[in-house]
Amino acid sequence: MVEKYPVIILGGGPAGLTAAIYTCRSQLKTLLVDHGLVGGQITLADRVENFPGFPQGINGMELGELVHQQASQFGLETLPAEVTEVVASGDVFTVRTSNGDFRCSALIVALGADHQKLGVPGEEELLGRGVSYCANCDGAFFQGKEVAVVGGGNSAVSDALFLTKMAKKVHVVHRRHQLRAEAILQEQAMASPRIEFVWDSVVERVEGDGVVSGLRTRRVDTGETSLLPLSGVFVAVGSVPATRTLKGVVDLTPQGHIVTGHMMETSRPGIFACGEARQHAVRQAIASAGDGCTAAIAAIRYLQEQTP
Ligand SMILES: Cc1cc2nc3c(=O)[nH]c(=O)nc-3n(C[C@H](O)[C@H](O)[C@H](O)COP(=O)(O)OP(=O)(O)OC[C@H]3O[C@@H](n4cnc5c(N)ncnc54)[C@H](O)[C@@H]3O)c2cc1C
Repeated sequence: MVEKYPVIILGGGPAGLTAAIYTCRSQLKTLLVDHGLVGGQITLADRVENFPGFPQGINGMELGELVHQQASQFGLETLPAEVTEVVASGDVFTVRTSNGDFRCSALIVALGADHQKLGVPGEEELLGRGVSYCANCDGAFFQGKEVAVVGGGNSAVSDALFLTKMAKKVHVVHRRHQLRAEAILQEQAMASPRIEFVWDSVVERVEGDGVVSGLRTRRVDTGETSLLPLSGVFVAVGSVPATRTLKGVVDLTPQGHIVTGHMMETSRPGIFACGEARQHAVRQAIASAGDGCTAAIAAIRYLQEQTP
């Protein structure tokens, strides 16, 4: 027989774990499924300085463990398994995993997203040693230094503007001759004396021995290559949400993010989504945690309404 829970949470990052604290404290038997290290992406952060409550900063792995411990002490059951399929049948949802099938009445999707990679030599090797996917998280480490932001959309231009507060110079490397960001952001970036644009160029490799020392770029029109000596490379070329299993179950954006309302409700009653897997997420641990709280409260209310 397939075991049934009132609530199943998919993904154990800051969003899923926070949702679990709320559902478990509401006396709802909750199962959380995660195929990786519980704690999510934040476990990769060496030092987190912008999560409230830790004035000295905290190691990301330690933060993940603490939040998991907090949810577990309220009775959370954690299943280490890959979510392979979600099936909706009326108001019951079946979650198929590499470790068995489970059913629930309310489903909270907190599967997160992965940063779109450049896929060039040096990127993976120098991750956390000058290569970053998060200016808000790592910008402070580049005080007075020269950095680059790769990309031309809203995220890239916002990151570049943010980095001008600490970096000496910010090179924005974009493969086109025009930015895709909103007009207001473009105007601010163009007006900044600290931002320089490297137009019509793609990254060929990230240079460095142990730490980033430069960025090799190639012009898409002439093929000419150049080396920018710098200390940091912020990649902002998009995110890939881990929502493959939700296709056809709830509405997704063309990029695969889950469309949600202000209470984190999806297009299907009983399924809620939170954190980086959803549309308009700001890609910060505390924002995902806040989403998780909202999704859990919405799920609790939904279950109360279902009970006669
Ligand atoms: C190196 C690094 C440093 C960072 N530093 C900071 C920082 O200083 N401050 C800050 O606020 N933010 C930081 N962030 C961003 C922060 O980690 C994310 O915004 C946050 O973790 C997103 O939380 P989430 O719960 O939405 O998703 P995630 O953390 O991505 O969690 C999703 C979870 O779902 C699981 N999962 C995905 N697919 C499946 C599947 N099919 N089956 C089972 N499980 C699955 C994953 O294993 C993961 O545990 C950093 C990120 C990185 C990578």
